[in-house]
Amino acid sequence: MSDSPDNPDTPPWADDGPERQQEEAKPSAAELEAAGQNSMFGDAAPMPEPEPVAETVLESNPAAPTTPPTAAPKAADPAQPYRVLARKYRPQTFSQLIGQEPMVRTLGNAIERDRLAHAFLMTGVRGVGKTSTARLIAKALNCIGPDGQGGPTIDPCGQCEPCTAIAEGRHIDVIEMDAASHTGIDDIREIIEAVRYATVSARFKIYIIDEVHMLSKAAFNGLLKTLEEPPEHVKFLFATTEVEKLPVTVLSRTQRFDLRRIPADLLHKHFAYICAEEGVGAEDEALAMIAAAAEGSVRDGLSILDQAIAHADMDGNDAETMVRAAKVRDMLGLADRGAQRRLFQYLLEGEPQKLLDAIADQYALGVEPLALIRSLMEFTHRVAVGQIGEVDAPSEEERTAIGEWAERLSAGQVHRLWQLLLKGHDEVKTAPDPLVSAQMALLRVLHAADMPDPGKLAKQLKDAAMSGAAATGTTGGATGGGAPSAALAWGDLVDRIENSGAPGSLSFAGLLKAQIRVISLVPGRLEYTQPHGYDDDIAKQVRQGLQEIIGGRWEVVRSNGEGAPTFYEAAEAVKKAEAERIRNHPLVAATFDAFPDAQMVESTEPARGTEDWSRRA
Ligand SMILES: [Zn+2]
Repeated sequence: MSDSPDNPDTPPWADDGPERQQEEAKPSAAELEAAGQNSMFGDAAPMPEPEPVAETVLESNPAAPTTPPTAAPKAADPAQPYRVLARKYRPQTFSQLIGQEPMVRTLGNAIERDRLAHAFLMTGVRGVGKTSTARLIAKALNCIGPDGQGGPTIDPCGQCEPCTAIAEGRHIDVIEMDAASHTGIDDIREIIEAVRYATVSARFKIYIIDEVHMLSKAAFNGLLKTLEEPPEHVKFLFATTEVEKLPVTVLSRTQRFDLRRIPADLLHKHFAYICAEEGVGAEDEALAMIAAAAEGSVRDGLSILDQAIAHADMDGNDAETMVRAAKVRDMLGLADRGAQRRLFQYLLEGEPQKLLDAIADQYALGVEPLALIRSLMEFTHRVAVGQIGEVDAPSEEERTAIGEWAERLSAGQVHRLWQLLLKGHDEVKTAPDPLVSAQMALLRVLHAADMPDPGKLAKQLKDAAMSGAAATGTTGGATGGGAPSAALAWGDLVDRIENSGAPGSLSFAGLLKAQIRVISLVPGRLEYTQPHGYDDDIAKQVRQGLQEIIGGRWEVVRSNGEGAPTFYEAAEAVKKAEAERIRNHPLVAATFDAFPDAQMVESTEPARGTEDWSRRA
């Protein structure tokens, strides 16, 4: 995307400066790519390397990176200590394989009872540990124990010759093959030939075939005969992300293990452990963000962590390397949950221009339109869960935002929103131009969703304060232009109180809405009067409430002047005006002419921007 070769920002003649050399010395690019950086956002489709941030830092501040982590160009060189985390912390025992306990149990039982299949199939999204599991199984089957007497075990010793050789990828009887680059029948024929010969040194000859779904039809057919009658000493370990592409004939001859996505909290703990091992400090929120962005994949999470550590190293302001939340947020783009919250807000508060701008910003950061919609769906889901019970979110800011939305939206609205987003998601997935499709889908949500809209409500209140004056005569010419602006600020104030989440804030807001006719409002001072029928002296209560929730010192005075209509009175006036407008519509007017006894009945579906806004879930 932004770092494509024809990007005007990096002309070809800029390539041979000193920066360029530093760039090449940087560990990330090749290594991180190898570690699967490309689909950080979980898309299976390959996309261009989306990580221009490190380069930007280098270009803008070429003097800073005096000690970039040493590069480890291709294969592991023992003199070069740097290894990407995903490789360095590849699990060496089943107990180190996080999040896959059910599979490990099943496997343990099978080994214990000597009921091992001839072929295993590991499925699951990328980076959950399929090939790691395959290697562990290879060790488990071939381990001979430290004394050379052991049999197959779920707990391989890691010390015997087979264990160490397999861990280093140099065991002659354990053959790894990537089906993505060896798809043809010839590659498989080699295997089929070799299968007949006995093992060189190990108990089992093990073929690990990664991305097995990539094999051609002919290759599958060739393999099938061997799978039907495999020699006793041969095991096949297949791994795939796309199990539905495997022929049933192959599926039926393998024992299948579904590796699960790893939950974010488990990833979070794992990353904290790794940071401690690496002697790197990390803010808890930073790790939570990385864990969330990893979407269940240890490997993706670790490559993000790799980058975050590299960035933190380059900062060099701290005595020790410190992975900070703000940096990670910049780095991740979408996983920037602040952007997610803003999008959600623009969507629900009916801000089409801001919405389009925010989509454009995210797209410019390299966020795929589909990922954008997914992230909104994820947020919606959190709001729905938040309406039922505990709000679950990695950061305090997010918890607050979700809590507010959970309170502000009705359950029906959240479900409607979900359906609209889901529909948009399906459209974007198949659209020829995903960006345009995402814009259209989100604009449709914005227009279709009957969502709370405090911004517009404030405007309506302002109008109502004026039309209310005409309709009810409560505000005379004396207050003139002052009342509307007071009403506007008052609307914002009440809104803030209502959404503050402070104890008792809802009933306090209710009191303010029902009983306060604002005479004047400036920061720190409220003069008000009460509508007829309200005689309680609430000045003290209001003062305390304002001081607690809004903050600062407040003077609250009840006087006998004329005030603007209360919140509820204004809302009522809006409704009346709306009814009046409808009644005056030519079609409706004609109806009333034809049926003089007809009455206007309020729909059960509340009007946009009135009760709807304050309705509680
Ligand atoms: Zn061993």
